[in-house]
Amino acid sequence: MKFRILGSGGAIPTPRPLCQCEICTLARKNDKYKRNSSSAYIEEINTLIDCPEDIADSLNRQGIQKIDHLFITHWHPDHTFGLRVLLEANYDFIENKAKNQIKIYIARKVYTTLKEKYPALIYLTDVLKLAKIQFIEHKKEIVLGDIKITPIGYQGKESEVYSFLFKKDNKKLVYAPCDTLHWKTYDIFCNLDILVHECGIFSYDKLKSELSFPELLKRIKIINPQKTILTHIEEIELNRWGLKKLDELKQKNLEFAYDGLVIDL
Ligand SMILES: [Zn+2]
Ligand SMILES: [Zn+2]
Repeated sequence: MKFRILGSGGAIPTPRPLCQCEICTLARKNDKYKRNSSSAYIEEINTLIDCPEDIADSLNRQGIQKIDHLFITHWHPDHTFGLRVLLEANYDFIENKAKNQIKIYIARKVYTTLKEKYPALIYLTDVLKLAKIQFIEHKKEIVLGDIKITPIGYQGKESEVYSFLFKKDNKKLVYAPCDTLHWKTYDIFCNLDILVHECGIFSYDKLKSELSFPELLKRIKIINPQKTILTHIEEIELNRWGLKKLDELKQKNLEFAYDGLVIDL
């Protein structure tokens, strides 16, 4: 399975618009330091996970040509508000028809909230027919090609936020990019090869509403994957702590994601 990180950035991408800090200045000059908002892609099954506002740039940068399936972790804008540009990329305005229909996998509760926050979705699905909604459930496996996908609700069945477990042959990868603070159901994992997880917050002295970096390390110890790759790295954190922070925290089995990183397993 080729699991590619399309965007390793946070709610606000790097470079942050308007910002003239060292990190953002560097990211404008060198693509290597650029971090689009979080999304990922599985090559074998034309599958995207999450759809942030800058998804068009992420798909273009990585040379992706087709998306058939889209999994949504939660409704937040940095994971869904790129839906119009993704879906309408398949619309022919001259012929007035959809060239491809994307299947959106989303929990019912997440969908209800998303429709309220992003009502344009109804026009895209019901009028333009650019997507079809497929409801998912906690622990109910979906099979695409030879990849098995299990949605894991952070609080079980009534969750607002999901991670996804991807299995191919005996290899297992979990993608849990955002809002993991109240995650209670990770005890079900065993023999995980790769955990792609949101980066815990370094500024936990000030910010209490997100998972702190020390709490993240405790969680990794419990899940005990072969390797952890941290994503959803916020510009404001690197602005405050500097790029060196990532090198300092890197360990043998703990790395930081970057845009375009391919996890091959
Ligand atoms: Zn900046
Ligand atoms: Zn997010």
